[in-house]
Amino acid sequence: MWLHFGGKNIIIDPGPGSLVRIFERGLEPRDLDAVVLSHRHLDHVADVASVVESATDANKHKLELLLAPYDALEGEDPVVLKYTKKGFKRVEITTMGNTYILEEITIKPLIPHIHQGAETYSLEFSYKDKVFIYVPCGRFYEDMLYAYPENPDLMVFNTTFLKPNLNYYHLSAEDLERIIQKVKPKKTVLTHFSLQMLRAVPVKVAEDMKKRTGLEVVAATDGMKLEF
Ligand SMILES: [Zn+2]
Ligand SMILES: [Zn+2]
Repeated sequence: MWLHFGGKNIIIDPGPGSLVRIFERGLEPRDLDAVVLSHRHLDHVADVASVVESATDANKHKLELLLAPYDALEGEDPVVLKYTKKGFKRVEITTMGNTYILEEITIKPLIPHIHQGAETYSLEFSYKDKVFIYVPCGRFYEDMLYAYPENPDLMVFNTTFLKPNLNYYHLSAEDLERIIQKVKPKKTVLTHFSLQMLRAVPVKVAEDMKKRTGLEVVAATDGMKLEF
């Protein structure tokens, strides 16, 4: 996701193909200010080195901020090269209770996720009275119903499956419907689909959810641009 917010450009979870997609959409990596990784899994970070290399002109012009969980940056098997980290003025570790400032934007982890041993957090981005919440991969648990501020402007959910299944560490459409019924975001976007979800046709899943909840719900498509 490329987030243009509060005068800054932030790339969130640059997975495989991210750099190519950036150019395909006519965006300019050099315009980036920050990189945010929700967790260390490759579908969320595979292109981080390529994107940062391009954005910084091989580390000549440093980006402001890299924000990622500890196990993405340090420990046994980090996924960000030491060299890539040098492309940033600040490298911060996502920690519950902390907030991270990027000029007028505040980034805040809201709740830790349960996600296959990878440290993962829901993240709130706020600027003036605007609030955007990213809910990355993770299994649903009750605390998620109480973790989010009410009526955010936009919530993006990694909605991997259609139905809850405790064998998977991923959210389902049914789970997030419970969340949005409580939180009532002004706009909800479903993304990060499994084959199961694609077979169910995400646009239809979103439409049905919209009818049931009376809330604005859309399914993401590749390259989709959305204002909020
Ligand atoms: Zn993951
Ligand atoms: Zn994922």
